[in-house]
Amino acid sequence: MLFPFTLQATDGAARAGTLTTPHGEVPTPAFMPVGTQATVKGLTPEMVRAAGAHIILGNTYHLALRPGDEIVRDFGGLHKFMHWDGPILTDSGGFQVFSLAGQVKITDHGAKFKSHIDGSPLELTPERAVEIQQNLGSDIAMVLDECPPATSEPAKMRAAVLRTIRWAERCKKHHSRPGQAQFAIVQGGLNLDLRAECARELVAMDFPGYALGGFSVGEAPEAMHAALPTCAACLPEHKPRYLMGVGRPQDLLAGVASGIDMFDCVMPTRNGRNALAFTSDGPIRLRNAKHRRDPAPVASDCACYCCENYSRGYLHHLFAADEMLGPTLLSLHNIAFYLRLMADARRAITEGRFAAFRAGCLARWNADS
Ligand SMILES: [Zn+2]
Repeated sequence: MLFPFTLQATDGAARAGTLTTPHGEVPTPAFMPVGTQATVKGLTPEMVRAAGAHIILGNTYHLALRPGDEIVRDFGGLHKFMHWDGPILTDSGGFQVFSLAGQVKITDHGAKFKSHIDGSPLELTPERAVEIQQNLGSDIAMVLDECPPATSEPAKMRAAVLRTIRWAERCKKHHSRPGQAQFAIVQGGLNLDLRAECARELVAMDFPGYALGGFSVGEAPEAMHAALPTCAACLPEHKPRYLMGVGRPQDLLAGVASGIDMFDCVMPTRNGRNALAFTSDGPIRLRNAKHRRDPAPVASDCACYCCENYSRGYLHHLFAADEMLGPTLLSLHNIAFYLRLMADARRAITEGRFAAFRAGCLARWNADS
């Protein structure tokens, strides 16, 4: 089977597995740092690797607009272009079209929109989304889906689910790149019947992996947490399950508890650029004046390059002076924090103590859920 996924252990619904790709193995649960524009912002691939990353994510929408997927293809694909030799997952571009582009018009044929860079008119169809990702040469490609806001009225949500199913079928038919796996995306918002219907149709098409899209799009985190176990249970047991674009550390643990295997989110890097560091005692803000004379590392239990070598006082200074190294060091630390969280969760699942591990994390972070 292309991209074998094996489960090493389960603990309740939580799973510890291994996904094998042409560019290496990915132990799960896995967090994928986001490399939107063929770079994890501010970090070299060596830094991303040293932080513990096994797989990263690239954005189809951004790379198709700039530099253009054919240019990336002519450089030998995204791995060579950005000098990352590990696995890469690319999204389909749908989410960015709906959230970033201007004047989006969706029909069954595809999504017409205006580029957020220069306003030029473009169209993303299921077939084009497949072609772009084949040109990028990612290990895992995503089908094009329609991702409506969580607050959409039922008729609109249902229409989006039906279109998502039809588009998945077209993507599967058009896909031809050997060595690239294509994952389908389940939509349906918080309507569990719609989610189940969408999952049933997509599972019948036999994709090698499945994602839950349309979460973290305006609904309360508690509503997402409540929906995740049912949604994950609709997916095949022996294929990877990916929760797209989520989220905070507590959301990842809720996902893992529900049986999700893969995650991506810009939170660690975006917050790192804004001087917010995740720690096992909860987040801290390095711009805060109380850190000015603090010789302690960002996190005393973290072995990342930032925490091994620099003080909170130095980070405070870098952000006060608007130096580039500040965002780089904190992005590195935050990614290391997310990756260690997943590695610790994996160990806890293997040892049958995931529920206690999760409760301990939430208590230390002072998080509600
Ligand atoms: Zn650190």
